[in-house]
Amino acid sequence: MTAWDTDLVRRMLGEHDVQWEDNKPMALLTTYAVGGMARIAVTVRTYDDMQKLAVALSVCGDVPLVVLGRGSNTLFSDSGFNGVVVIVGTSDESKSIQCTGDVVSAAGSMLMPVLARRSVQAARGGLEWCVGIPGTVGGAVRMNAGGHGAEMVDSLLSARVLSLRSGETHVVPQAALGLHFRGSALSPHHIVVSAEFATTSQDVQQGTAEIDHIVAWRREHQPGGRNAGSVFVNPAPGAGSAGALIDAAGLRGFTSGGAHVSEKHANFIQASDTASASDIIDVMNHVQNVVRERTGTVLRSEVRLVGFAEDIALQFADTQHEAPQFISARHALCSMLGEM
Ligand SMILES: Cc1cc2nc3c(=O)[nH]c(=O)nc-3n(C[C@H](O)[C@H](O)[C@H](O)COP(=O)(O)OP(=O)(O)OC[C@H]3O[C@@H](n4cnc5c(N)ncnc54)[C@H](O)[C@@H]3O)c2cc1C
Repeated sequence: MTAWDTDLVRRMLGEHDVQWEDNKPMALLTTYAVGGMARIAVTVRTYDDMQKLAVALSVCGDVPLVVLGRGSNTLFSDSGFNGVVVIVGTSDESKSIQCTGDVVSAAGSMLMPVLARRSVQAARGGLEWCVGIPGTVGGAVRMNAGGHGAEMVDSLLSARVLSLRSGETHVVPQAALGLHFRGSALSPHHIVVSAEFATTSQDVQQGTAEIDHIVAWRREHQPGGRNAGSVFVNPAPGAGSAGALIDAAGLRGFTSGGAHVSEKHANFIQASDTASASDIIDVMNHVQNVVRERTGTVLRSEVRLVGFAEDIALQFADTQHEAPQFISARHALCSMLGEM
């Protein structure tokens, strides 16, 4: 963890009229509802808020940052995060889309199901699958979220990205975002302010029926309650899905403390009311060990782990993000955003 000057950060936030909270509990800002506190948390709702934060942080050196959307793919450690959590809060912009011809634009803070429904209501097709993703547009761009045979990269045209390092904002074309399986070239200090999607003209009733179908499918095949969707990334093509490997290892229902492998979907880990983040990590650890012993495949985490010790972070890190082409995509994006 980089040493950072909390007093300097607080002073700069104050000087730039940025509201912050010390030691803010993170649990209820995530769908797992577990984990500790953020040393400093800043909620940004408008582009103006984001810019002020960027200016304040620009003189604070290398501050550990995490941008948080709906927290549906994030697990905070029980000891919390010793850094600044930037919470992308909702505003009026989170509620409506803009349509210009075939192009639909949405704020980074908009929830994906809202994007799906608003697009269908506007007779635009192609984003119906987004109804199944319980996160924000910004989180989905960062993760290249996908489902039902589609993913962000299929329809995303560009994203407006603010760098909290340089303070610069650019409309980044999709090709420069380095989207790949459940990842992108975006770094922890980048905020997706808004995104533009290519859509097709579509009958409203047809789109509504597709949305109803996806919602029903999710209810039938996925558990409710506290989880973060699929925990492990699917291994290389041909090795079977992560869920199938976990299932074949007989791990459905495996329990540690207040966390267990879902009976309904083997790649989901459910948290009970009494669960801690370390219970979830214990289940992940057991699943990873058993699947490795049985098949030689090392499952890696799709869920973003925040504030954990380095050995845990490394144990579950998705190494595909470190492939040379993705590292160079990250450098190119940082350069485009004026960071080097
Ligand atoms: C029940 C359930 C089902 C799910 N099903 C799927 C599925 O089918 N497919 C799928 O891909 N995922 C699925 N997920 C996971 C999750 O919903 C997606 O990854 C979603 O895109 C995360 O969005 P979020 O706003 O919650 O991101 P968060 O969890 O808040 O953050 C995830 C990552 O995105 C970054 N981030 C968040 N907002 C921004 C922003 N504005 N700018 C820059 N970076 C940002 C964070 O720093 C973090 O690295 C599911 C989750 C649940 C709980």
